[in-house]
Amino acid sequence: MPAEDAPTADGHTTTATFGSVTAANMTISSAHDGVFGDPAVEPVAPLALHPSAHVLHYGSACFEGLKAHRGTDGVVRLFRAGDHVRRMQASASAVCLPVPPSALLARMIRDAVVANLDEVPDPPGALYLRPVLIGTDANIGAAATPSRDALLYVLASPVGEYFTFGRTLTLRIETELPRSTPQFGSVKAGANYAMALGLTLKARAEDGADQVLFAPGGDVQETGASNVVLIDDDRLVTKALDRSFLHGVTRDSVLTIARDLGYDVVERDIDVDELLAWTERGEIALVGTAAVMADVGTLVADGLRYDVVASGGPNLRRLRGALVAVQRGEAPDRWGWTDAIDIG
Ligand SMILES: *Cc1c(COP(=O)(O)O)cnc(C)c1O
Repeated sequence: MPAEDAPTADGHTTTATFGSVTAANMTISSAHDGVFGDPAVEPVAPLALHPSAHVLHYGSACFEGLKAHRGTDGVVRLFRAGDHVRRMQASASAVCLPVPPSALLARMIRDAVVANLDEVPDPPGALYLRPVLIGTDANIGAAATPSRDALLYVLASPVGEYFTFGRTLTLRIETELPRSTPQFGSVKAGANYAMALGLTLKARAEDGADQVLFAPGGDVQETGASNVVLIDDDRLVTKALDRSFLHGVTRDSVLTIARDLGYDVVERDIDVDELLAWTERGEIALVGTAAVMADVGTLVADGLRYDVVASGGPNLRRLRGALVAVQRGEAPDRWGWTDAIDIG
């Protein structure tokens, strides 16, 4: 995806594609027989893994994605780290890996920010944090046995915007195939992204689409890595939480802010017919840590293109503005979402 220049605090800019550059340091802890050891800060370097490692054969892996933002006041703040810790614990449990204690994971995320503080870009850039957990038992006969050894590490990456704000996105609506499986829709497990990738490449080649919006059987769920919300001047409509899709922290933040600003927030199922009708009357946004809030300009369903008439409208801008103001410490954080990294 195109990246925007993200100036860092020490004055240099990153023009790299989102996520393609890692900051110098990571935090790491290994678990033996289910028990995690003390975390360490280490320079980012190749991992030594036995070729029989469980993750390489049986996909025992999960991850998270969150951001630390540098405010206009110079303070660096983590955004809703506690919620990402809880979600990673749920994912670890779903892939039957040892579950990292919350205090350990929270500390490793924070230490990864501190260890890379000089690489946190100025807005609209941010330091993207990527906690990863993989099963490391060396046993190729362990298809039906959980890995009791694991590696947990937190990478950091100075990023610009994932989707350059102002550019509108084209989504292909997929009504036949699901993104994931019923028991894994709300798990941030690598296998889900491998499953969705082929369909995304096909949508890109055939329709020039940026992403696939999965709507199996007509039930509008989400794209490969973002939730979707419909907005007009009065309402925000989005699918109610169920196991079929990833429960985004950004989704929850946007809903909370929308309620606060007086929008009627409606969580319920949305079918494809309603979504296509919405292109005539409201805005459509992708919401996620990487995407923040990205404007959808066109939907493609069965080869037919539907332009979102209100794309570029004021409601997405307003909600996005309110969200990033909290993240950057420019507006009061009334929900306890931000943790200032105090290194004094
Ligand atoms: C990570 C992710 C999201 C967005 O979640 P956030 O917590 O808002 O970053 C949405 N859908 C999928 C499939 C994801 O992997």
